[in-house]
Amino acid sequence: MVEITRNPTRAVRIGSITIGAGHPIAAQSMTATHTTDIEATVAQAEDLRQAGAGVVRIAVDSKKDAAALPAIRAGTTANLAIDLQENYRLAADVAPHVDKLRYNPGHLYHHEPTKPWQEKVKFIADIAAAHDCALRVGVNCGSVDPAKKEKFDEHDSIGPMLASALEHCELLDSLGFTRYAVSLKDSDPTKVIEVNRRFAEQRPEIPLHLGVTEAGMPPDGIIKTRIAFEQLISRGIGDTVRVSLTVPNARKPEEIAAAEAILADIAAGRVRSVVDYGLSSLNIISCPSCSRVENEAFIDLAREVKEMTQYAKDYAITIAVMGCRVNGPGETDDADLGLWCGPTHVNLKRRSVELGAFPYDAILPKLKAELDRLIEAKA
Ligand code: SF4
Repeated sequence: MVEITRNPTRAVRIGSITIGAGHPIAAQSMTATHTTDIEATVAQAEDLRQAGAGVVRIAVDSKKDAAALPAIRAGTTANLAIDLQENYRLAADVAPHVDKLRYNPGHLYHHEPTKPWQEKVKFIADIAAAHDCALRVGVNCGSVDPAKKEKFDEHDSIGPMLASALEHCELLDSLGFTRYAVSLKDSDPTKVIEVNRRFAEQRPEIPLHLGVTEAGMPPDGIIKTRIAFEQLISRGIGDTVRVSLTVPNARKPEEIAAAEAILADIAAGRVRSVVDYGLSSLNIISCPSCSRVENEAFIDLAREVKEMTQYAKDYAITIAVMGCRVNGPGETDDADLGLWCGPTHVNLKRRSVELGAFPYDAILPKLKAELDRLIEAKA
């Protein structure tokens, strides 16, 4: 297991679980049924809970949706969150039946446009406090507060998201409401990485809910999300996660399975992108392997690399072992030493420099020679 130093976030209780403050990273998902179809929504919430969802989110867009909540609550023991869209006042109808409310700062201007957004947030926070609910400030690249967008260059999508989240955190704190998490989502994993890193630098104490929006169908949707999570969680950022997948309703629990697999892989150093865990010791990462692996010997090689390099454990060096030519050549660029495995040969690299391809049974001494050279250079 890799020792990851998590950000010192506040504890935020959501029903029976707590996120932040070193608690396990909770996987969550969202129902895709019509909320008014109580039977189907309860069944899906239960499916997700049984698959391990720490929180199950339900969309509430109308009074009719809100009216379904008491029966949904009665039918499931899942921790429930609701997603408020444009009508923030529905918070009052649903809060008694759920554990968390999510609002989107970019949607607050739709209703009662002349009322200051601060008053609307105070309304939501007061309702949450009165009904023992946590909050999530959910900022989304596709629906950023237009008043914020105006203040930034039109090509800067990160600045307005960040400013919007920070301003809402300041307001909630000033209201004395600190039981909240923040999410900053985009469909581009590189933007998710950047905006969450920048937020965590400024507010390391606020728990983050990570996710890539419109990630798509598996396996691509999982891969996109995995890359964002690898880069963030490895650096201690993230307290709860959602993997959004385009799958039929009955397969929604796959979101939880995917999230848990990614979390377990990151904790074990099985990553697809080169991850800097911020260690001052040797960092050996190997891809989690998939159908693209070209030679099963890759699995043994990954283990042998770990064993052989033990002697260098006190050096801050990253070695990446990747299983195929599709991702291997690009993904090893950021590692001090990289190996990517072809059908008969293993390619050795020092950062982006190619050092040659060697048969599987000849690669370890070559790697050792390069590692010794790096250690010598550090001495
Ligand atoms: S590096 Fe290749 S084999 Fe390994 S997980 Fe990525 S695509 Fe699959």
